[in-house]
Amino acid sequence: MDSHMERVLWTQDQISLRVSELASEITSDFKAATPPPVFVAVATGAFLFVADLVRKVEMPAFVDFVRSDSYGSGTASSGAPAVSLDLKVDVRGRHVILVEDIVDTGNTLSCLIGHLKSKGASSISVCAFLDKSVRRKVHFQLVGDGKFYRGFECPDYFVVGYGMDYAELYRNLPYIGVLKQEYYTGSDLILK
Ligand code: 5GP
Ligand code: MG
Ligand code: MG
Repeated sequence: MDSHMERVLWTQDQISLRVSELASEITSDFKAATPPPVFVAVATGAFLFVADLVRKVEMPAFVDFVRSDSYGSGTASSGAPAVSLDLKVDVRGRHVILVEDIVDTGNTLSCLIGHLKSKGASSISVCAFLDKSVRRKVHFQLVGDGKFYRGFECPDYFVVGYGMDYAELYRNLPYIGVLKQEYYTGSDLILK
């Protein structure tokens, strides 16, 4: 898999350090919250990030997943997202921290924030590991006294690794990088 990468943007160590910093910021903001906050991770991309984050926060926490589909298997958004896997935890009257791998146009977060708001969350924060802010089209609105936590600003590349895929592959890379052009061209090439 390493031979598929054009360049690495963040190493495993850099990721780990930044997740620890985010976790301490979130811990100081939420440790007094009753009931404890609900970490709602956006499947599948945020699965590694949320696993690392919730093990580093020092407080009780609920953890759940939602899924929202819009991307398909390519590198460009295929339109308006819809919620395709719903929560199990009741978020009514609770503080929600929506955990995302990367924010691009902002469509997915806007859709999910609207959804969580309609379920009665008392505040909605967003914790996104990467932010491609130059590509933002929709300015999502946090709810209540929700905050925006961001790992790193991401340059305008299609990135993979640390949960993020191309055609459902590369999610298990422990670092984040950009694939060589040839691996974006067809799934038969990806597996060679
Ligand atoms: P948005 O709705 O903000 O345009 O896109 C959000 C979702 O698209 C992210 O949660 C992620 O799943 C996917 N996405 C956006 N940019 C990238 C990228 O550079 N690489 C990968 N693998 N997925 C991306
Ligand atoms: Mg995502
Ligand atoms: Mg994807």
